[in-house]
Amino acid sequence: MDANSEIFIRLGAAVAIFLALAFWELLAPRRALSVGRARRWPSNLGILVLDAVLVRLLIPVAAVGVAVIAAQRGWGLLNITPWPVWLEAIVGFLALDLAIYAQHVAFHKIPLLWRLHRMHHADLDIDVSTGLRFHPIEIILSMVIKIAIVVLIGVPALAVVIYATSMFNHSNALMPAWLDGIVRLVVVTPDMHRVHHSIKRHETDSNFGFNVPWWDRLFGTYRAQPEAGHENMTIGLPIFRDRRELRLDRLITQPFRNDAGEAATVPPARSEKAL
Ligand SMILES: [Zn+2]
Ligand SMILES: [Zn+2]
Repeated sequence: MDANSEIFIRLGAAVAIFLALAFWELLAPRRALSVGRARRWPSNLGILVLDAVLVRLLIPVAAVGVAVIAAQRGWGLLNITPWPVWLEAIVGFLALDLAIYAQHVAFHKIPLLWRLHRMHHADLDIDVSTGLRFHPIEIILSMVIKIAIVVLIGVPALAVVIYATSMFNHSNALMPAWLDGIVRLVVVTPDMHRVHHSIKRHETDSNFGFNVPWWDRLFGTYRAQPEAGHENMTIGLPIFRDRRELRLDRLITQPFRNDAGEAATVPPARSEKAL
């Protein structure tokens, strides 16, 4: 398959998954949105377009392409092993997902990186479009990190293609509790990731996982439910609560501003009391 048709297949699949999840949210929403779609979706999708253009301009070969080249030339730790392809795909996928978990923790703990990542958290609602809302500089940084990991480990192309989970675990789709309980044994569910978008800092600093929920359980960052409950919890950050902050131009400048005077440096005790 040539690179162009590969891109179209991935794009088509991503759009189909987006539409399916958007339809699910519409038919069976998990919680009422506080701001709604009309004010958020143009910006959340606008930043996605900007991200995609920048990645195409700045990173000529996407991570999938690098993985394919690395495999062909026998680069990477997994390419030294004589394992069957299915085993390499599983190990490669888990290694990549663990690296994404570690990267996510770093983006919360290192103040300079948090300034980039907090734009994702500043969304006042969480739905399928939030899963696509990342600052361009964060996207470029994490793309470079992912390419490095892919080359280092030699993750087979198959393992890199699995990205749809971000849209799924951000969606506002209603799943019965029993189903959520089963699914979250293997995949991060919307209810699990929603805790990560709570305004309470100790909840924001939990459930970092993107695909499998096991890293959070293993490293003690797992939190089953939000304290206030899913319907009553507040989504977003103590900073950037003005609705004007949902505009595309404001999203882009958020890492460089601390307008509300409160940001990552607020001690947890104080921000808790403020709530
Ligand atoms: Zn986060
Ligand atoms: Zn998120």
